[in-house]
Amino acid sequence: MPVPVKRKTIGFHKDEVGDWVADLSCGHTQHVRHNPPLVSRPWVLTEEGRQRFLGYELVCKKCAEEGVETEEQG
Ligand SMILES: [Zn+2]
Repeated sequence: MPVPVKRKTIGFHKDEVGDWVADLSCGHTQHVRHNPPLVSRPWVLTEEGRQRFLGYELVCKKCAEEGVETEEQG
């Protein structure tokens, strides 16, 4: 069972199609799209909103997949 790994958001940038991407402290990135009604993140559309979410912890799926900082077996 994968263990969720939380990483702090250290910045934001847009990808090539204009979707917002969070830069995480581990060096990975994660999309933070505002795509209602499936995903509602109106805060990502404004500079002020993004500033508020700096330092916010997101679950990094890539770290979880790579098994970073999960408990050692045996
Ligand atoms: Zn990561």
